[in-house]
Amino acid sequence: MDQIIIGKFIAERRKEKGLTQMQLAQELGITDRAVSKWENGRALPDASLMLQLCRILGISVTELLSGEVIAMENSNQELEKRLLEMVREKERRDKQLLRIEWVLGILSCIILFVPIMIGALLPMEDWQRIVLVFSGFVPAIVGFSFAMKIEQVAGYYECKECGHKYVPTYKAMYMAPHMGRTRHMKCPECGKKTWQKKVVSKD
Ligand SMILES: [Zn+2]
Repeated sequence: MDQIIIGKFIAERRKEKGLTQMQLAQELGITDRAVSKWENGRALPDASLMLQLCRILGISVTELLSGEVIAMENSNQELEKRLLEMVREKERRDKQLLRIEWVLGILSCIILFVPIMIGALLPMEDWQRIVLVFSGFVPAIVGFSFAMKIEQVAGYYECKECGHKYVPTYKAMYMAPHMGRTRHMKCPECGKKTWQKKVVSKD
């Protein structure tokens, strides 16, 4: 912490706010000599005054102690940019996952129904039919389970009533009647049961 830099920063912000040393001192309930001491770099503001001082000057405590505004704004912008990138990245991944879910669902249907059709149409022994149907049933169930898991975690469900977007529990989603990806579920926010659409983005 550089007292000189902090002092100059306080003076700068004070002038930007159109305050005299006396006016700032009065707002803080201290003498103008104390303010003058800070600004000359001979003393730091008392910790008990810092929050109030920062509020008056329109800066954060971190900014006050680092003696500048610009660096903080940059680092905040940088942080926001990275967070936004992470959100977009998740949206891209979710879209991809939901495409995989679609393919997985169709494949599972084929694997399930083709053996049943063959068993129904072609003449064969009963035990052969059972083996045939079962051979499609097991991989289809595995395929459907994966598809359901993807549907639960990728993106969000949007409540029609209140617009709340959320990730349901696997059980809540599994038990819910559905048309495609739109499911009839209870919203954890407003508690109403409606048909809730799948959305990829939260904004
Ligand atoms: Zn709701």
